[in-house]
Amino acid sequence: MNRSSLIPLPSIALLFVTLFTGCGQEPPPPSQAQPAAAPASAPQTAQNPTAPESAAPATDSDKWWSALPRAAWSDFRKVDTLNPWFEVYEIVDGVFAIYEPGQYEEVISYLITGSRSALLFDSGLGMGDIQSVVKQLTSKRVSVLNSHAHYDHVGGNHQFDTIVGMKHPFSLQRSLGTPNSELVQFVSGDWVWKTLPPRFVVSDYQTRPWEYSRWLRPGEAIDLGGVSLEVIHAPGHSPDSIVLLDRDRRLLFTGDTFYLAPLYAQLEESSFADYMATAAKLAALADEVDYLLMAHNTPLAESRYLVDLDQAFQAIALERAPFSLTEEGREYQFRGFSILTADPPEDNAPIIEAL
Ligand SMILES: [Zn+2]
Repeated sequence: MNRSSLIPLPSIALLFVTLFTGCGQEPPPPSQAQPAAAPASAPQTAQNPTAPESAAPATDSDKWWSALPRAAWSDFRKVDTLNPWFEVYEIVDGVFAIYEPGQYEEVISYLITGSRSALLFDSGLGMGDIQSVVKQLTSKRVSVLNSHAHYDHVGGNHQFDTIVGMKHPFSLQRSLGTPNSELVQFVSGDWVWKTLPPRFVVSDYQTRPWEYSRWLRPGEAIDLGGVSLEVIHAPGHSPDSIVLLDRDRRLLFTGDTFYLAPLYAQLEESSFADYMATAAKLAALADEVDYLLMAHNTPLAESRYLVDLDQAFQAIALERAPFSLTEEGREYQFRGFSILTADPPEDNAPIIEAL
């Protein structure tokens, strides 16, 4: 992955880099400070704060998966599936977390069901057959909506007929697909520890292209029948990031905008300024929701973290937050999460929005 983007470039030039050569894929695992070229040695341990520091020679206890299973999942009803690559839990009535703990991202997609139809909020890595899991969970018509277009959230899109989205150049570029050469590192070595899904071939792993069926209008609510979901643009981690608000049930699906691990504001497609504005916007929802449903590692966090996230960005902007230097920038540590930025943070300016 190309991480040279921390060097500011003229926005037009960078747009071409971003749109046509394919900017980096999803960053290294959300949960960690970095394995830029992938964990030949195990990924470092930010994903799992309790994991041992790297020691040589490495043993399984040094690996990222030594943090599994994560205790938080035991709070929820597990749904048996025929596909062992996925674990499925019912988080609230009719809302299923489809979790892929076998790969370092530990990505979580959500199937949200209503009385008439269902929405798959992210389609995972595309390593296993997520469509078969969805079919097991609902017989209703299913649409896919992505929290953003990083590879670990769109991998199963190609299996579905109906993809809705917010029209954005970043999503459109990713919908053309991402080749094996850019993604193979994420399914090799210590990035994967579980038995690979049936018929999965490392050398053929790619993001297959998908076509959008319909564009959502800004502020449009998705009505599934008794379940209404509001789409809120939340740029920062990526320019096309959205969050999904279930106002009636006081839930917010946060994608990669918030989870309890290092948050990525340092990618070439990230914008610190946008992320900060998003954090302020979401903090205003803290009293309107009870829980956040997150896209990595563990499913549920209290909504007070929205306030914490806003305060964290403000502290960074005011240079009142301590940080440590990483290979690609800074890491600011807060209670329950950290924020990775460029060095200094404001160097990572808006990219596509600037055009
Ligand atoms: Zn992402």
